[in-house]
Amino acid sequence: MECEKTKEQFAEDLKVLEDGQAVFQKEFVELKKAKADKAKIDEVLNRLKDGKEKIAVLQKEFKTLYPEDTLGGKTKAKPKEKKEPVAKKEKFEVEVETYTLPEELLPGVGVESTNPILPVDDKRNILITSSLPYVNNVPHLGNIIGCVLSADVFARYCRLRGHNVIYICGTDEYGTATETKALQEGMTPIEVCNKYYKVHKEIYEWFGCQFDKFGRTTTEQQTTIAQQIFLDIQKNDYLLTKTLEQLYCPTCAKFLADRFVEGTCPKEGCGYVDARGDQCDQCGSLLNPIELVNPRCKTCGTTPEPRFSEHLFLDLPRLEGRLNEWVDNSISQGTWSQNSISTTKDKWLKEGLQPRCITRDLKWGTPVPLDKYKEKVFYVWFDAPIGYISITANYTDEWEKWWKNPNKVELHQFMGKDNVPFHCVIFPASLMASGGDWTLLHSISTTEYLNYENTQFSKSRGTGVFGDAAKNTGIPAEVWRYYLLANRPETSDSDFNWEDFGAKNNNELLANLGNFVNRCLKFTKDRFASTVPALGQLTEDDQTLIKEVDEQLEIYVKELDLAKMKASLQAAMHVSRLGNNYLQKQEPWVLIKTDPQRCATVLHVGLNLVKLLTALLEPFMPHFSEKVLRQMQLDHSQIPDRWTFEVPAGHVISDAVPIFRQIKEQELKEFARRFAGKQEQEGKAEVVKPKAASSSA
Ligand SMILES: [Zn+2]
Ligand SMILES: [Zn+2]
Repeated sequence: MECEKTKEQFAEDLKVLEDGQAVFQKEFVELKKAKADKAKIDEVLNRLKDGKEKIAVLQKEFKTLYPEDTLGGKTKAKPKEKKEPVAKKEKFEVEVETYTLPEELLPGVGVESTNPILPVDDKRNILITSSLPYVNNVPHLGNIIGCVLSADVFARYCRLRGHNVIYICGTDEYGTATETKALQEGMTPIEVCNKYYKVHKEIYEWFGCQFDKFGRTTTEQQTTIAQQIFLDIQKNDYLLTKTLEQLYCPTCAKFLADRFVEGTCPKEGCGYVDARGDQCDQCGSLLNPIELVNPRCKTCGTTPEPRFSEHLFLDLPRLEGRLNEWVDNSISQGTWSQNSISTTKDKWLKEGLQPRCITRDLKWGTPVPLDKYKEKVFYVWFDAPIGYISITANYTDEWEKWWKNPNKVELHQFMGKDNVPFHCVIFPASLMASGGDWTLLHSISTTEYLNYENTQFSKSRGTGVFGDAAKNTGIPAEVWRYYLLANRPETSDSDFNWEDFGAKNNNELLANLGNFVNRCLKFTKDRFASTVPALGQLTEDDQTLIKEVDEQLEIYVKELDLAKMKASLQAAMHVSRLGNNYLQKQEPWVLIKTDPQRCATVLHVGLNLVKLLTALLEPFMPHFSEKVLRQMQLDHSQIPDRWTFEVPAGHVISDAVPIFRQIKEQELKEFARRFAGKQEQEGKAEVVKPKAASSSA
């Protein structure tokens, strides 16, 4: 049996190691002062690191044998500052139970612009839209990342690059789903819209989405503009009339809207039994309900009977040539996501366009302005995209400067992938048919689906996090935004997962970003009386840092110009990592004793990197940037092409409060349990199949 090492033996070993460290430390400082070559300095640095590790091992051994005692204590030779938190989560000192900065401090984030912005001559004029979320539901995280949040990141980025931008969104309020919801809740359709419009607006505001206008489609402007576009289409002879065989449910005594019919998909090789009247979720084909094999009324299950009704069709075949030409042009000039190109070109245009019905036998919609059709309204997919225009018209009377100005305005649209045909084919075709000189889509960014813990979000089952619930977790908006954007279903579906959520918060936001920012600010506060110290001569290390940061900055700009959010966010986080490594290597907590001037330079560089990070991360986490800038008493700045030092020596910062906190495993488990949902719910008919990222019905 081996004899246990005594406390005295441990102390002796420690002393030897610490003495060695002191010698290396001295050597290091001398080499630095003498500007010795890098290899020599690195060698000493390695010996220091080595020593540090050996001490750590010794400490650990000691603790195992003598858990009540502390090794070293007062005889410690190394400077106290070595205890500064380092970028490892287990050593992270600043751990707070609650967030120290209340959200109320941030009234500036997520507020609509007050004076309407109009296109100007000497700038890029960028008109950004997010597909309009359907009003009858509370949006879930998949809906939020699918369009509204992605478009917000892009809009913020464009503003920070100095472009002239408006971001338009709002709720899509017409259609059968609203009528049904009204019946369920014992309200009129407009009461339902009023209620849920408010819910949507509050959720997006909480997430910090900064619209220039968040409007709605049930406005007078919508009626005026949609009817005018329709009348122009009629005048230009792009309408066809057809008598349709429609499904009528004798039990419900009404024509069944597309979504109220289900049945087997008629497409060869598909045969999905739960296809919806308007679309098959399995093969993606758009359907006509009459085509369904074995149709059934979704409300009562009765087999509906075909009846006849006369409808108006948009003559898409006559527009095909122009549309083809425009699509190729737009793809070459703008940025189209891969799945929008393949859906538009390889599916829709390749298969050839068919006339498309734009009227419906409903009450809740924009009325068709013709006597013969006065009982009918526009089909929601003719009507809803016109919402972008009418919402802009509710923002400014001079809306045509945005929407009828194709040479000076770029239209960038964000949506879930299921909305592609409507934005790349039907909406542009409708505008073309109306004959005006419209601003048509320039770039399109689409998302796939976000799942929740390997299943679908479901309001009726209570599975997944819906907008208002995110707020009630007490986790601030920037953490949610970061997680959703880092996991944006950009090229394939992605999954919301609590474990991953915790890991991203704890390892990336807290240990990387939060740690770097807080170390710089706190050190400045404690050691330099909250004053940004002077910049001395830049060393090779500093130059390397600048070069590496500029490389990341280039990637960041290149990717975000293309609306590639994951890659640009990674580049921004890499900048923070470079900052951490820099501090780690320079060890300002040592330099403050040994070389205060150099220490000042390191902090000057560090604080300027923090400033750069507030700009790079503002599109992703505006609340984060706002909080840091407030602590630094600085204004927002634009995203530069190259890193320049904007924070001058002598500038005084106000505070150094940690922005992120650790989310504990226990909390994550509790959240996972809370949002797991119940197995079954009473047999309420669900109107819209809750599928992530799909918005407008
Ligand atoms: Zn029925
Ligand atoms: Zn199918």
